[in-house]
Amino acid sequence: MTKLKESIQILQACEDIKESNLVFGTWGNVSVLLENGNLLITPSGIPYDSMREEDLVICDMDGNVLSGSQNPSSELKMHTTIYKFRSDVKAIVHTHSLYASIVSAALKEVPLLTEDLAMTIGGTIKVTDYKTPGTQELADEVVKELGNVNAVILSNHGQAAVGPTLDDAILAAVMCEKACMLYVKSLEINKSPRVLSEDEIKKLRSTYTDFYRKLRNFKE
Ligand code: 13P
Ligand code: ZN
Repeated sequence: MTKLKESIQILQACEDIKESNLVFGTWGNVSVLLENGNLLITPSGIPYDSMREEDLVICDMDGNVLSGSQNPSSELKMHTTIYKFRSDVKAIVHTHSLYASIVSAALKEVPLLTEDLAMTIGGTIKVTDYKTPGTQELADEVVKELGNVNAVILSNHGQAAVGPTLDDAILAAVMCEKACMLYVKSLEINKSPRVLSEDEIKKLRSTYTDFYRKLRNFKE
């Protein structure tokens, strides 16, 4: 496969999500949308530690493999469906992180409790109905519940986080896990914790995109 800057970014992202304890074993996957409209995605079932540039797979939006010797992630349909549905999304991180997995089996949504979550996620995180992993049914359910926010919980499964760059998508994945942890822990001490209103979340999200995010040097 020809050398792509996106390959380095994906391998770095895999290291980041491993270090942040967002993944267990080989589960989870990462993709980026390439400038020519194809996507670069992690292979299925290959350990993050030993993943190399040659293991990454290029696919088109119809799910055809264009280059790579490994099988693409089994969640390829979810990735292509999200890119078709959200033109602002250029990167996707799917993990089975711990608190997102707890929420995925126990709750129907995760209201946002703090300003950093409002800034990065941008709205209440919804939990999908359960659908079998790897299916178009799961992909359709994911885009339905994702809407225009940056993270969604997949019932009895995990989370998917999105962004305009891979750095944004990794941050959304970390913040989604934080949102789930805060909400689960808050429910332990107060059955109805104070949540941010949708109006306040919108305001905070605008502050972030118009000003605060620009202070970061996110790689395009
Ligand atoms: P991979 O096929 O990318 O290893 O995916 C595992 C997984 O997370 C299935 O939902
Ligand atoms: Zn999964």
